[in-house]
Amino acid sequence: MIKKAAFYTLGCKVNQYETEAVIDIFLDNGYQIVDFSEMADVYIVNSCTVTNEAARKTRQIARRAKRRSPDSLVAIVGCYTQAFPDEVSEIEEIDFVMGSNNKAEILDKAEEMLAGRDVDAEIKEYKELRDYEELNLKRLSNTTRANVKIEDGCNQFCSYCIIPYARGPVRSRKKEDVVAEIRKLSQQGVKEIILTGTHLGAYGSENGNSKALTELMQSLTEIESLKRVRLSSIEGTEIDQGMMDLIAEEDIFCPHLHLPLQSGSDQILDAMQRPYTAGEFKETVAELRKRIPDLALTTDVIVGFPGETEETFAQTVEAVKEIGFAKVHVFPYSAREGTPAAEMDQLNGNIVTEYSKKLRLINEALMLDYQKEFLGEKREVLIEEVRDHQTDLLTGYTDNYLKVLVDGPDELKNELVEVRLEESFDSHHILGKIID
Ligand code: SF4
Repeated sequence: MIKKAAFYTLGCKVNQYETEAVIDIFLDNGYQIVDFSEMADVYIVNSCTVTNEAARKTRQIARRAKRRSPDSLVAIVGCYTQAFPDEVSEIEEIDFVMGSNNKAEILDKAEEMLAGRDVDAEIKEYKELRDYEELNLKRLSNTTRANVKIEDGCNQFCSYCIIPYARGPVRSRKKEDVVAEIRKLSQQGVKEIILTGTHLGAYGSENGNSKALTELMQSLTEIESLKRVRLSSIEGTEIDQGMMDLIAEEDIFCPHLHLPLQSGSDQILDAMQRPYTAGEFKETVAELRKRIPDLALTTDVIVGFPGETEETFAQTVEAVKEIGFAKVHVFPYSAREGTPAAEMDQLNGNIVTEYSKKLRLINEALMLDYQKEFLGEKREVLIEEVRDHQTDLLTGYTDNYLKVLVDGPDELKNELVEVRLEESFDSHHILGKIID
């Protein structure tokens, strides 16, 4: 009988990439992949630990799987297990755990367990995660875009962040391997590639090459079949002149950068151990805008960090408005045990919620403002494979990350089409019309 496996991914694009690669391994070994809500022999939860909420959800998803299918094998792998192995091991419903590395061995461990043998948890200390684990994408469930992982780990240790403890130090994938994978994916019809990493801008830094990402981007310009490349998230301090030139001059690079600001207050940025001041961040933005006029800038902001006051929050609001982000992801600060910030005096939760609400409202207005700049223009839109569930219209993204709704036939899915951007539908969508 064909064995069935189901996967659930929490967290970032790196996790999504790794799950896709592990699914490939299961498919190659004769498994059928089913939806996580169906009965399966093996359930794999690729976990996230970036917030307490992500960890709670990981536990909940795994428990539900076991309740639904008590004879199945349930495993939690990834960041949560790596950072808090004891906490995860205490979950009764779990059959085995694995850390951030050795994802290629998940199938072997599952097979061992299904054969009735015990497996060791084998979670290495994060500092020992020294080698980049090469995983490859062979086939994709969605060919509109693919996350391609090029780097793992982070050495920055921002004071609030658990990721360096969950992912270990920076390890970069060989440029030739990245280029080969992207060439293959684009030849298979994938239109958009998102370069991802735990700390993308640190790509190659363990070998002392601060220009490695720019060099990789340069190599990608030689792949003729490649249509669009986006960077997932990068620190402003890591963008060099060569990278700016590539984004400005080469059509395949989307004029969209996600630069995490985190706070507009120098005092808070310092406590967060972030490597820039608010002024330096604004200078980088000014330079980028000069070079790439249509640039969509999106960002992350953490509100309610220990030490946040009315004054520091007001500085953040001012910075966010002044920069005029296309979108702000607002994260209410959540203390992660084991990080320096968890030892600091914490704010009352109600204040954190109030700040989050205020900033989210400001974000709505900024998103609408950004949309307005492009109404009436023609823009190329990459049509998604799934229609919008509310309107049943086709959806797609412009290169500068505007989400567009258009009327059209299913044949346009996964195609790049010319669209006139007509009016705002809401802060997240523009109504557009396909130009014949
Ligand atoms: S750069 Fe900072 S926020 Fe980003 S992964 Fe590293 S420690 Fe975490």
